[in-house]
Amino acid sequence: MGKIIGIDLGTTNSLAAVWENGESKLIPNSYGDYLTPSVVSVDEDGTVYVGKIAKERLITHPELTASVFKRNMGLKKIYKLGKKEFTPEELSSMVLRRLKEDAERYLGETVEEAIISVPAYFNDMGRNATKRAGRLAGLKVERIINEPSAAALACNYNGDDAEATVLVVDFGGGTLDVSLVDCFDNLVEIMAVSGNNHLGGHDFDEALAEYFLEKMQTSRRKISEETYGLLLREAEKCKIELSEEKSAHLKLQCDELSGDMEIDRKELVNICGEIFDRIAEPINSVLRDGRMGVSELTHIVLVGGSCKMKVVQQYLRYVFQRKDMLVRDPDHMVALGTGVCAGIKERAEDVKDMLLTDICPFSLGVNVVNRLEQNGDSVMSFLVERNSPLPISKKDYYVTVYDGQTQIDIGIYQGENYYAKDNIKLGELNVKVPARAKGQAGVWVRFPYDLNGGLAVDTEVPLSHQKQQLVIINKEIRMSEEEIRDRLAELEQLKLNPLEEEENKFALEWGMRLYAQCNAGIREELEKRMQYFVQTAQRDPRRAERVRKQYMVYLAFLEKALNAGGIEQMLGAGADWYNDDDEDGDNDWKGED
Ligand code: ADP
Ligand code: MG
Repeated sequence: MGKIIGIDLGTTNSLAAVWENGESKLIPNSYGDYLTPSVVSVDEDGTVYVGKIAKERLITHPELTASVFKRNMGLKKIYKLGKKEFTPEELSSMVLRRLKEDAERYLGETVEEAIISVPAYFNDMGRNATKRAGRLAGLKVERIINEPSAAALACNYNGDDAEATVLVVDFGGGTLDVSLVDCFDNLVEIMAVSGNNHLGGHDFDEALAEYFLEKMQTSRRKISEETYGLLLREAEKCKIELSEEKSAHLKLQCDELSGDMEIDRKELVNICGEIFDRIAEPINSVLRDGRMGVSELTHIVLVGGSCKMKVVQQYLRYVFQRKDMLVRDPDHMVALGTGVCAGIKERAEDVKDMLLTDICPFSLGVNVVNRLEQNGDSVMSFLVERNSPLPISKKDYYVTVYDGQTQIDIGIYQGENYYAKDNIKLGELNVKVPARAKGQAGVWVRFPYDLNGGLAVDTEVPLSHQKQQLVIINKEIRMSEEEIRDRLAELEQLKLNPLEEEENKFALEWGMRLYAQCNAGIREELEKRMQYFVQTAQRDPRRAERVRKQYMVYLAFLEKALNAGGIEQMLGAGADWYNDDDEDGDNDWKGED
């Protein structure tokens, strides 16, 4: 049997690791580097370049080179490199093949199997595409692991802490992923995930490039793509230098544009204020969903290349108000974790019993009659709450709403919004029921949801013993962050509610926003209050104001409670958190010797 390796197939860089002599070890590539840029380029004669050379060709031959294709894994995006066309998984397979070859050369034996890490929010299309990419590269991929689980494994596999709650902040080139991971004995479980698919080190590069152009009194429109590409590369260099030095130069010398700009960390913070604000959002959301306060976290682990930025570390120390963040090897943690996982798969003595589990990233439910307004749009009844561990099975009973009703239509939806129509519809079941007085006939609806993200919906009518099942194909169950964003943008266009009065509308929208943020228990209470407020506002305008005030006091209370222990109060802090003299905490690790 060949060796099993672990692979961190990154958006910007990829790495491989192997379990050897009781520990996870990184595998160097043919240049002796651990990081292989996830870039693929082809030549006119059909030669394929992967990694370092391909990254160079990104500037010299942009039309023949592809990067950041991981973002489109599982989507129908086609990359045209010269005359050839590639899917994201084909491009990924070339990166994997390079890693496999490097590993075989280094290990001196064939590698047949790999465990590949993917972002926790990756949907099934992304996961399956990653498996197919492995197969195209000649690797058997039986197991996919979530990147944050891998990072948590990397710092916890030796069982230092029998029980640990780890917050993993993975800040890479183009994405920020935040996850709450629970380690208990040999169980590693993801409790909550959040992130931003369009926030990463690249944003700092762009901000620096913009700043440079401004200083040189020109703009992006006035320079060619190629010059901008060069500028971005210099901006990245300057950013990386600022991780070591307090100030650095951004120099550019080419036909179109030449200049030299000195910049220090303080200025970097000032021009990137908006980026920092966006970092705090998913962190807050994960802590809220996991019902965790910062002080309850056993470890905060920073991974990903952008966590090497001193200003990012300082910002996170300010946000968490903790100095014991682990920033050891941010580039390598995920890969090292996949190496541990390879050890588990190989049943290596020291790690063989570890288990990993997954969660469902979105709530699932069915639509029911609007309890607020008669004839209003149907609303959600949630069966599976977002961030529930998988596999899970939940059921609930739904009854008829008018006398003599003979059919109950059940729409199955995914999402967090109050109105069913604002969520994603996955399917529909029409269930026949015997005619009875309203509320006397009903149907059990059960959602078994498995580890691979497959959802089946079972119904049973107790009066007639009729059963039905609807299987919803995997690919439709989960949404990517991108889809959510698009969907949210769409939703923002929609009018929310017919309530005329501005203030009522405000209160209503506020409630809806909190509704989308909170968990099942609170949702119930919130809905009752919302119901009371809306009904009173409609029926008795004279009392509307008082009821609205009461309702808003409750919402304010709720908002505060949702944030308790969270970090929302830190949002929008501008650059106040930055302190030029705060140099410490670089590699703080509680308990490390
Ligand atoms: P991904 O997981 O997306 O593949 P990585 O974790 O490899 O990405 O991070 C890549 C990002 O980290 C790039 O934007 C790169 O500029 C940035 N980066 C790498 N090293 C440093 C450093 N020393 N200082 C600042 N940024 C860095
Ligand atoms: Mg990464």
